[in-house]
Amino acid sequence: MGIKVEIAQRLKKLPPYLFIEIDKKKKEKKDAGKDIIDLGVGDPDTPTPDYIIKKLCQEVENPNTHRYPLGKGLSSFREAIARWYKKRFDVTLDPDTEILPLIGSKEGIAHMPLAFVNSQETALVPDPCYPPYKSGTILAGGNPYYMPLLEQNDFLPDLDAIDSQVAKNAKIMFINYPNNPTGACANKDFFERVVSFAESNNIIVAHDAAYSELYYEEPKPMSFLEVEGAKGVGVEFHSLSKTFNMTGWRIGFACGNKDVIAGLAKVKENIDSGIFEAIQHAAIEALEIETDHIDELLKMYKQRRDVFVDGLNSLGWKVAKPKATFYVWTPVPPGYTSIELSDSLLEKADIVVTPGVGFGENGEGYIRVALTVDEMRLKEAVERIKKLHE
Ligand SMILES: *Cc1c(COP(=O)(O)O)cnc(C)c1O
Repeated sequence: MGIKVEIAQRLKKLPPYLFIEIDKKKKEKKDAGKDIIDLGVGDPDTPTPDYIIKKLCQEVENPNTHRYPLGKGLSSFREAIARWYKKRFDVTLDPDTEILPLIGSKEGIAHMPLAFVNSQETALVPDPCYPPYKSGTILAGGNPYYMPLLEQNDFLPDLDAIDSQVAKNAKIMFINYPNNPTGACANKDFFERVVSFAESNNIIVAHDAAYSELYYEEPKPMSFLEVEGAKGVGVEFHSLSKTFNMTGWRIGFACGNKDVIAGLAKVKENIDSGIFEAIQHAAIEALEIETDHIDELLKMYKQRRDVFVDGLNSLGWKVAKPKATFYVWTPVPPGYTSIELSDSLLEKADIVVTPGVGFGENGEGYIRVALTVDEMRLKEAVERIKKLHE
């Protein structure tokens, strides 16, 4: 007979999954043998570089890596992260207290509110955004307060528009630049304003820098921690996923304020048992060995971006080229909602994209296109969209 399984209230509070219909249609099309061009998921299509794979294979054969991983990750990994940070951002980090390896940055991001947000307390969350800021807050019993990311503000939150009472009571502010889904970048001036906002309201800043290495124009994206006072207010999340095509490996890290790092570490001590050490060794290799991997990767995404954006603009669309990330935040032509356009692209052109509203209310009016298929396929996508115009 069995029991009646009822999920906890906190699960019921998670926002509804908006892509059910699209996923269903995508599956039907695939089953019917249609040639789908999937620009929906932000998952690199090219493989992890060979030198990283070789290192993993070598370390897998070493029995020392087979046991429970050590507490806060290998000290050699944390030291490699500190060296990479110094070299890339000229920021000095203490490997013992200011760096925490993660099982992918999503894991750390989703656990942040569990460490710092009490029941019914607030986290400031961008809208549109990468979903874990919102779901992590809700799972911890907190309430997200949305900061709209609008084109007229270069997709930066307007800190002056945040209700002052809300700001006083908020525990965490999530920000993310280069930004998913908008592709926007932040400058030093913005980060400085965030530091002073955080200081005046006693808020922990959690900056997600997963796309810091995927940029097409100078100046390079900066680290939040480069800004004066940043280490006093927050942490930054990094990931090897996008930089080294390692999404399936699950490895990233948080760094910055030592009290915040300690809080997050305490949650993790009680939930997970670390990252497979062979993967940590491979990650050291990724950060330490100089190759032309990143240059090649950026050249590839830039070409894809240009083919796709120039292609759509030649059809009369009005699409801006992102300066960073592999997403094109594409304005929806008049007469459609983002869901209607996504639906219609799938229905009539066998193209999968993500409707902007799926990332939050202020994502309405856009679709997110991930440049994670090759140039030929992007040309084909533009051709198919062209036919819709005829
Ligand atoms: C892909 C992505 C990440 C990386 O997640 P991992 O768990 O490290 O694979 C983090 N933040 C954003 C905004 C992303 O798009």
